[in-house]
Amino acid sequence: MIIDIHGHYTTAPKALEDWRNRQVAGLKDPSVAPKASELKIGDDDIRESIEKNQLAKMKERGSDLTVFSPRASFMAHHIGNFETSATWAAICNELCHRVSQLFPDHFIGAAMLPQSPGVDPKTCLPELEKCVKEYGFVAINLNPDPSGGHWTAPPLPDRHWYPIYEKMVELEIPAMIHVSTSCNACFHTTGAHYLNADTTAFMQCLTSDLFKDFPTLKFVIPHGGGAVPYHWGRFRGLAQELKKPLLQEHLLNNIWFDTCVYHQPGIDLLTKVIPVENVLFASEMIGAVRGIDPETGHHFDDTKRYLEASTILSDEDRYKIYEGNARRVYPRMDRALKARGR
Ligand SMILES: [Zn+2]
Repeated sequence: MIIDIHGHYTTAPKALEDWRNRQVAGLKDPSVAPKASELKIGDDDIRESIEKNQLAKMKERGSDLTVFSPRASFMAHHIGNFETSATWAAICNELCHRVSQLFPDHFIGAAMLPQSPGVDPKTCLPELEKCVKEYGFVAINLNPDPSGGHWTAPPLPDRHWYPIYEKMVELEIPAMIHVSTSCNACFHTTGAHYLNADTTAFMQCLTSDLFKDFPTLKFVIPHGGGAVPYHWGRFRGLAQELKKPLLQEHLLNNIWFDTCVYHQPGIDLLTKVIPVENVLFASEMIGAVRGIDPETGHHFDDTKRYLEASTILSDEDRYKIYEGNARRVYPRMDRALKARGR
């Protein structure tokens, strides 16, 4: 089976965005702030938004299951305060839960957290636990920069984040390290901020001994790991300068990279440089890059094509990238699948 570990509900019914706009307007003028209960989205609206979009493309391209989380650029943790994020995260997570209930064979949830700049990450734990225990979610998206491009939070190995890590280890869930919208004009959200953050998260882990404190902690670095695979020699050299162990032993028991790299040479490089055990199939479909590549005539984000066309990968490697690795990294998903005979 083919598991896409990186999908977001980018096609949610328009009512969601309208509600959010009112919530944001309500920060200036509380008289227009909506209640959570004012958002009404019917099951048919959800069905339509999925069947015509993500599910249609999954069927067309040949993937079976997507780990599905709220739209990343809409998390916008920098807006408002903790209460703003808490209400918004609860709404977005519940919608993803409903998608997974309506299409249990094709979608399984991952949670966004109600992060807010300057607020103790401990405040995210009730929402996290609800999503895992009540909704059956199998992962979280952790934003290393809730300020939206200003990087005001401590780096990931700082004890600031430990409450989240302790809960992740306890619940056996990985975190995709995923930023949200950039409100810093220097960084385009999906073209720069996302890739910067992927690279930054990796380097923060490299300079630290985080995984000595949490040997079973699991991070998924999306978008092919940002600049990491391309500059693997630099990272190995820096680790050596810093007297860290070899990267294999220092980081690769705890960090995985996804395949959201939208061209063949990129996928070839990723799978040549990074051990296949550390690569997870993903497309981030329907996401930031929706067009058709004029050089191939296929969608840029149809990442399965690149893996299929690879002359580097064996069938065994492809199995690991499509399914085997994901079952190890997302043990709750593996158990949920086995419970359904898959
Ligand atoms: Zn994403």
